Amino acid sequence: MSAKTSASTSAAETLKTITHLAAALKAPRITESAARLADHARDAGWTHEDYLAAVLDREVAARNASGAQLRIRAAGMPAVKTLEDFDFDHQPGARSTVHALASGAYLTEHRNVVLLGPPGTGKTHLATALGVAAARQGHRVLFATATDWVARLAEAHTRGRLPTELTRLRRYGLVIVDEVGYLPFEQEAANLFFQLVSSRYEHASLILTSNLPLSSWAGVFGDQVIAAAMIDRIVHHADVIALKGASYRLRDRGIDTLPSIKAEQGSID
Ligand code: ADP
Ligand code: MG
Repeated sequence: MSAKTSASTSAAETLKTITHLAAALKAPRITESAARLADHARDAGWTHEDYLAAVLDREVAARNASGAQLRIRAAGMPAVKTLEDFDFDHQPGARSTVHALASGAYLTEHRNVVLLGPPGTGKTHLATALGVAAARQGHRVLFATATDWVARLAEAHTRGRLPTELTRLRRYGLVIVDEVGYLPFEQEAANLFFQLVSSRYEHASLILTSNLPLSSWAGVFGDQVIAAAMIDRIVHHADVIALKGASYRLRDRGIDTLPSIKAEQGSID
C-alpha cells in the first residue's frame, strides 16, 4: 500500500467517525461540511482552529436558518412578505422608522408598533415583514387578525384558562394583531382584548394594524373608558406609523383611490 493510499484510507476512516459523531450530536450536516471544508482548508493552508471554526459556523448558520423557517411557519402569517419586497418610494414617510424597527431593538425594549392607514397601503405587508425579521432574529412570533385573537381568548376564557393563555402568549416576543377596527367589538370582546394588551404591556411587543385613526378606536371598543385605557398602554412605548395615499393594489389600474376611502384619508394624517 503506497503512503498516499494509506493516507486517503485513514481520511476516509476519519470521515466515517465524523459521520457517527455528527449523528450522535444530531448535527448530520456536519458530515458534509467537514469533508468539503477539509479539502478547502488544505488548499488554503488553514490552521486546525480555522477549520473547526468554519465547520461549526456552517452548522450554527444552518440551525439558525431552519429555526427561523420554523418560527416563520409557526407564526401563522397569511403570506410571507419581507421588507426587501416593500417599495418605500410608495410610502417614503415610513422608511426611516421601519428601517430602525428592522434591527429588532423594539422587541428587547418591549415596545409596540402601530400601523395606521387606508386599505392597500401596506399595513399587513409591513406587520408581516417585521414579524419575519423578528423570527429571523430568534423571536417567537404569532400573527392573527383582531377578530381571531378575540375568538382565541374567548375560547380560553370559556375553559377557565385565560390567565394561563395570556402567560403562555408572553413567551412570544411578538404578537401581531391585524385589522383592529375592521369589525366593532362587543363588550366581552373588548374586555378580552384589553386583557391581552395589559398582559403584554412592558413585557412583550405588539404590532397592531388598523384602517382607523386612534381617535376612532373608542367606536371599535364600544366603550370610551376601555378604549382610552387600551390606547394609553399601547402607545405609551410605541412607534405609530401612518401610511398614506392610494391603495398599492390599485396603483396600475387607473383608479386613484376608492371613493369611500377618500374621506377617511384626511383623518388618518
Ligand atoms: P393593507 O393591509 O394596508 O390593506 P396590504 O399590506 O395587504 O395592505 O397590501 C396590499 C398588497 O399590496 C399586498 O400584496 C402588499 O404586499 C402590496 N403592497 C402594499 N404596499 C406595498 C409597497 N409599498 N411595496 C410593495 N408592495 C406593497
Ligand atoms: Mg391588511
